[in-house]
Amino acid sequence: MQVFGQQLKLMEMEHTHVEILNHSKRSPELRLKASASPPSITQERTKNKQNTVTLSSGHFSEMKQRFLKFKKEKYLENSDHYENLADKQAPKFMVIACGDSRVCPSNILGFEPGEAFVVRNVANLVPPHENGPTETNAALEFAVNSLKVENILVIGHSRCGGIRALISMQDDDNSSSFIKSWVMVGKPARLRTKAAASDLSLDQQCRHCEKESINQSLQRLLSYPWIQDKVRSGTLAIHGGYYDFTNCTFEKWTLEYDSSSSAVDGGYCLRNREFWS
Ligand SMILES: [Zn+2]
Repeated sequence: MQVFGQQLKLMEMEHTHVEILNHSKRSPELRLKASASPPSITQERTKNKQNTVTLSSGHFSEMKQRFLKFKKEKYLENSDHYENLADKQAPKFMVIACGDSRVCPSNILGFEPGEAFVVRNVANLVPPHENGPTETNAALEFAVNSLKVENILVIGHSRCGGIRALISMQDDDNSSSFIKSWVMVGKPARLRTKAAASDLSLDQQCRHCEKESINQSLQRLLSYPWIQDKVRSGTLAIHGGYYDFTNCTFEKWTLEYDSSSSAVDGGYCLRNREFWS
């Protein structure tokens, strides 16, 4: 009976997969879902696998060429430098940037290996100290306390999808989403943007919030006692940057401690604003 039971189950599975295959002819999405397939559709799987391998090997073959070019033209040409780097790193910069594929800090600002300790997250946000551990503040702790970087640079950018999600969110949105939960870290920047620019278009509000959230992140950095101490003693500087990839410009500014500044500003002010175009 047990064997018969197993056979019946197999027949049911077979039937289910035939159904999935029939549907999958109409729906590519269903075809993807039917990944745990029995031998009866091995042919289909092999065909899909071949397509996938062909596509991947094309990408990796280009990647391999880039890596070998890097090895020949940079690594081997500067072998002393890379040997030193193999022993230790001493970057001067900690960079917090968005994960967006268009805004790689090493690419746009030319950081070479060993020059910047980089953490990238959705919308380049810094969570407050009281929120507890995240990968971003773990990276901050290591960069500031162990590597003793001298600068933290938070880089925002134009057309940021994370900031757009933050601005577009409905106040009564109770959906559970990793993106929503994360970008809510930027809620104060959203509130300030809504207060200052709610009459502007969505695109303009996003642009406003992209910059507002950078300054929020700079302030948030000061909620970490070990960062605030170093900023006050002058051994660590914190900067904001904004990369606009629609016209390839970069704004850069610095948050400085100023004992003569009013208590309203928390003793800090923004200085040394530069516009690179
Ligand atoms: Zn972004």
